[in-house]
Amino acid sequence: MNTFYYADLAEELRDSIRKHEAPLLDLCRYIWANPELGLKEVRACEAQTRFLREAGFQVTTPFAGQDTAYCACRGTGEVTFAFVAEYDALPEIGHACGHNLICTAAIAAGIAAAELLEKKGLPGRVLVMGTPGEESYGGKVRMLEKDCLKGVDATMMVHPSFRSTPDTGCTAIRRYDITFHGKSAHAATAPELGVNALDAVMLLFQGVNAWRQQLPEDARVHGVVTHGGVVPNVIPDRASARFFLRSIHDEVLEEMNERFLHIVKGAALMTGTTEEVCNFNLPYRARRPNEVLNNIYIAAMNASGNPIVIPERGGRGSSDYGNFSKVRPGVHPYFGISPVKIPGHSVAFREAAGTPYAEKSMLDAACAMAQAGFLFLTDPEVRAAVLEDAK
Ligand SMILES: [Zn+2]
Ligand SMILES: [Zn+2]
Repeated sequence: MNTFYYADLAEELRDSIRKHEAPLLDLCRYIWANPELGLKEVRACEAQTRFLREAGFQVTTPFAGQDTAYCACRGTGEVTFAFVAEYDALPEIGHACGHNLICTAAIAAGIAAAELLEKKGLPGRVLVMGTPGEESYGGKVRMLEKDCLKGVDATMMVHPSFRSTPDTGCTAIRRYDITFHGKSAHAATAPELGVNALDAVMLLFQGVNAWRQQLPEDARVHGVVTHGGVVPNVIPDRASARFFLRSIHDEVLEEMNERFLHIVKGAALMTGTTEEVCNFNLPYRARRPNEVLNNIYIAAMNASGNPIVIPERGGRGSSDYGNFSKVRPGVHPYFGISPVKIPGHSVAFREAAGTPYAEKSMLDAACAMAQAGFLFLTDPEVRAAVLEDAK
């Protein structure tokens, strides 16, 4: 496969980002210091849309049915490329997924690509699309229900990690709250009158554990007990668990889903309880990385002094960007924000997301992403390769 990377183009995009560097980093730090939960990112949305308007973008917000979503557009033409922003934080630990860096990178890339198109007098529509509520709320899934990618030809976003890597995919996910209903009774004086809902939860875990050996390597099933009764001398009439099911293949997840629901049913039958199955959240699809966009990112990051590490296996997390990647060509690679290995969703990750080390890497990732978008918009050969890979 061809790898498209041009050092002179990277330099021009980098010059443009450099001009806006100080206000971009102010924006990044402001969002980091003011974490807001998914679908409630009022200040982050306001700050970004103001920034984009001042940079010459036409901004629509609310967008695609979400109050804190936005769509910012600059340039005209037949072809449209969207840089995707996320900006929600996690409960209690703030920007421990570093989404302050994601939205700043998308805006930096959007401005650089749009400015260079203008300077060269080339057509092309550059979008920066603000997608709220990635952490568990499925903002992009909700936005897709409103056809948010109508008129968009390809998308891209970048995500922080402890190291820089290409997009190696991520898992599809289904999340369940399972509740069993039984009958309470004195556990010592009248146990024969009770129906034990906790037994059903424990049998559910045993059923899942018996299933584990036959799961494909790329599958994950993990659960916690969310209610297990109150006191030992009352047989619990209600007990519940929350389970996540994942696979890197959408079809495999559907098969797993069927098996899991059979195990739930079996646990209820064995105990005489009744089961209640609720989706805890919207399902996400597995991510399909576009290899052409991935390769542009790899080349650009390597050239800017951010050596790309190729992981031994694909990602096992899940993201609502999976759904975007299944309807338009797209890619979701990573940039490193720490000189040492740190886990996502941790205090250490939050602290790293506010450092100059992370900001430098983020701006390099933005430049790489701008290059991918610019080439898609202006080079028919690149565009044809991207679309071919997505077939
Ligand atoms: Zn996260
Ligand atoms: Zn994240």
